[in-house]
Amino acid sequence: MPRDPQDELQALQEAHLLRQLRPVDSPQATELIIDGSNFINFSSNDYLGFSSHPEILNAYKNGLDLWGSGSGSSRLVCGTLRPHLELEERLAQLKNSAAALTFSTGYATALGTITALATKGDILILDKLCHASLIDGARLSGATLRIYPHNDLNRLESHLQWADKKIASDGRIIVITESVFSMDGDLCPLKEIVSLKQQYGALLLLDEAHAFGIAQQGIGLADDLGLSDQVDLQMGTLSKALGLSGAYLCASRAFIDLLINRSRSFIYSTAPPAATAVAALKAIDILLSEDGQQRRRKLKRHIKQVSDEIKTIPHSASPILPYILGSSQNALQLSSQLYQQGLLIPAIRYPTVPRDQARLRITLSAAHSGEQVKQLINALKR
Ligand SMILES: *Cc1c(COP(=O)(O)O)cnc(C)c1O
Repeated sequence: MPRDPQDELQALQEAHLLRQLRPVDSPQATELIIDGSNFINFSSNDYLGFSSHPEILNAYKNGLDLWGSGSGSSRLVCGTLRPHLELEERLAQLKNSAAALTFSTGYATALGTITALATKGDILILDKLCHASLIDGARLSGATLRIYPHNDLNRLESHLQWADKKIASDGRIIVITESVFSMDGDLCPLKEIVSLKQQYGALLLLDEAHAFGIAQQGIGLADDLGLSDQVDLQMGTLSKALGLSGAYLCASRAFIDLLINRSRSFIYSTAPPAATAVAALKAIDILLSEDGQQRRRKLKRHIKQVSDEIKTIPHSASPILPYILGSSQNALQLSSQLYQQGLLIPAIRYPTVPRDQARLRITLSAAHSGEQVKQLINALKR
């Protein structure tokens, strides 16, 4: 008898690892309606409130009027509409790289990039806390994988030394990390990683999903540190601080042309709506404007206030504040207590984080009011 899915669900339930969808009956905002009640939302990645920014919404609507809803086909058939190229040029310029390619999602970007650029015989060296999309891409590529403990430069170097001896003369070694880690909110030591990868002739793939829009200058950690041109493969999403959907990879012209030819998640998938690209261009303008800077400043004040008042939360350079509880059961319990008080902060459990590091992942947004942040602090203190 093949195994019964009910048994598998039962096992998840018993391990406090069962997940269920939670229908939301209002637009993404700092306040959500769930089951007829209002909740303050501390779980979204809409860090700047861009998903409800009137100018971005208007651009989106104009994009629909000008370019229609669906793109009709994949990019290589007849789905490359002018806004896709305009957005890619803008992203390349912003990231100080020669070219860029956009994908429907960040997941598709990671999968499509890594599998196109790495194959059997190549070596991929990943930070232990890399996002699932990077890990899945790495596994699917058939390359040899080496994992180093989170942000551990010594182990990264010893993997690089090993790879340097082992690699074929035309083989690729690619170091893969995030700049702002998605579940911990901390930063990678980018400067040191860049100098190591250079020393060993490796490439660097940097996923800036949670830094794009919220780094000091709004562009990314690599940009803040003046290292954009040293990062061979710069990835990021339009789905977090930009409040839209889709993602990009910035690199040399040759790498981008190779992806256009080989990246299966790019080739065999319908092009994202051009209207999303139109909206993303507007979102980038706002990101770099006084409006964007003000939102980043306000967000920073919120972050400082919460980490000053709640000692168990480490001081963070990002709006992702992990409140580590250990067991899934404890995390679920606190999450449900906060839910009863009108705060939405879902428990993050294995396999998203290690088994013994279940947590509440609190995310702040510039769209939160001072009053909402106070309510969070008071609830956590209780
Ligand atoms: C969210 C995220 C992705 C995936 O992006 P989507 O557009 O949501 O598919 C990839 N990498 C990291 C680090 C992320 O946080």
